[in-house]
Amino acid sequence: MKKVKCKSCLGYFDQKRKDQIFCKISCRNSYNNLMYQLKIRPYKKIIEGIKRNDEIISDLKYKYYRCFKYIDLYKLGVDFKYAHGVTYNLVKRKVSTAKFGKYQIILEDCGYKIYKI
Ligand SMILES: [Zn+2]
Repeated sequence: MKKVKCKSCLGYFDQKRKDQIFCKISCRNSYNNLMYQLKIRPYKKIIEGIKRNDEIISDLKYKYYRCFKYIDLYKLGVDFKYAHGVTYNLVKRKVSTAKFGKYQIILEDCGYKIYKI
C-alpha cells in the first residue's frame, strides 16, 4: 500500500484505491464543505445586500410615502451597488431609475419615489 497525503488534514495514510485522496469520510466532507463555502461566498454577500436593500425600501414604502434624496437613501443603508436596471439621467447627472428586488425608485421633480414593481 502506498502512503499518500490527505488533501484535507494533510496527514499521511495508506491509500486503498488509486483515486483515494482523503484519509476518512469526515476529511472528504469537511474539504467539500469548505470548497462549497468558498465557491458561494461572493454570491452570498450579494444576496444579503439585495435582501437588506429590499427590507429597507419596503419599510420606507409603507412608513413614509414621500420623496427621498439620494443621500437620504444612502444614509438609511440603501446600497446602490446591489441595484439592477439602473438608468442614469445625463442632464440632471443623477440616477433616474433603479430596481431593488420588488421595488423600483424613480427620479421625479421632488426626488426619488418608491414604486412596487
Ligand atoms: Zn484526513
